[in-house]
Amino acid sequence: MRIVALAGGIGGARFLRGLLAAVGPQDEITVIGNTGDDIHLYGLKVCPDLDTVMYTLGGGIHEEQGWGRTDETWSIKAEMKEYGVGPEWFGLGDRDFATHLVRSQMLTAGYSLSQVTEALCVRWKPGVRLLPMSDDRVETHVRITDEQGTRAVHFQEYWVRLHAEVDAEAIVPVGADTAKPAPGVLEAIAEADVILFPPSNPVVSIGTILAVPGIREAVAAAPAPVVGLSPIIGGAPVRGMADKVLAAVGVEATAEAVALDYGPALVDGWLVDTVDEASVAAVEAAGIACRAVPLLMTDVEATAEMARAALALAEQVRK
Ligand code: GDP
Ligand code: CA
Repeated sequence: MRIVALAGGIGGARFLRGLLAAVGPQDEITVIGNTGDDIHLYGLKVCPDLDTVMYTLGGGIHEEQGWGRTDETWSIKAEMKEYGVGPEWFGLGDRDFATHLVRSQMLTAGYSLSQVTEALCVRWKPGVRLLPMSDDRVETHVRITDEQGTRAVHFQEYWVRLHAEVDAEAIVPVGADTAKPAPGVLEAIAEADVILFPPSNPVVSIGTILAVPGIREAVAAAPAPVVGLSPIIGGAPVRGMADKVLAAVGVEATAEAVALDYGPALVDGWLVDTVDEASVAAVEAAGIACRAVPLLMTDVEATAEMARAALALAEQVRK
């Protein structure tokens, strides 16, 4: 079976680990990764979501943190601080730096981000084909108003430095409107047997991938069933601040509202957590098949069970 999954960072990566445990060796998984979180620091290109997927599936992730490398050291960061060079709020460890050096060196030599990602995956062997959503530069910015007035900040600054404490007024994936899907992305979607939306952030992860012209249209037109898993449980994100960015796009932070925002033209099936069982009827009334199952990714087996439920629902809604 050919499975395509759209993925952000932590939520996407953890789900994919369960999906890999749930499928067989004959199944092929293509992951279309969000690159709207990418940031340039110290002349290096950092791709947090691609790296989280690569490190998580390749066994190099810092488990508790959910991002960055295991057994990390911080000498470069300390040295940068001595020079008074920031940003101090963004954590790039020494081992992680190597990834960004290799990536940036290859990009400077003229390779595309997809080629670079493929090269990095030769080391990490994630067990999936990892494609960036686009080789073109896309950067999500967030409009905020604080004591400095109304301004746009890079998504990473909003999330990591400001902890999403100030309201997001608008989310703009800068560059998305002229970005092209990376090679292989549209083909993978068209040829998929199943398309999955892991419990990734619906606005700044999945939403950004869908904002690349052609991708949303390809998913909607794909013959494969499309099944999503809710990142919202009991009216709140399991982790992170998805409620803040959902508010910016006028969507309530509930499993039901997120499903309806994707809509029946895009998703055929939707999984909510058992605590949200009461919302199943409303989602189904909107034309999306819905089931309530445990959606907490507490360990790989629990996550594999979520993946099995998503694949089972895909079979039920297959046209
Ligand atoms: P990011 O790029 O690191 O923010 O990661 P993603 O966009 O892929 O995923 C973030 C989303 O994962 C958040 O909105 C969380 O609510 C969701 N999430 C994290 N852990 C779990 C979990 O155990 N179960 C579910 N259903 N969602 C989760
Ligand atoms: Ca992210």
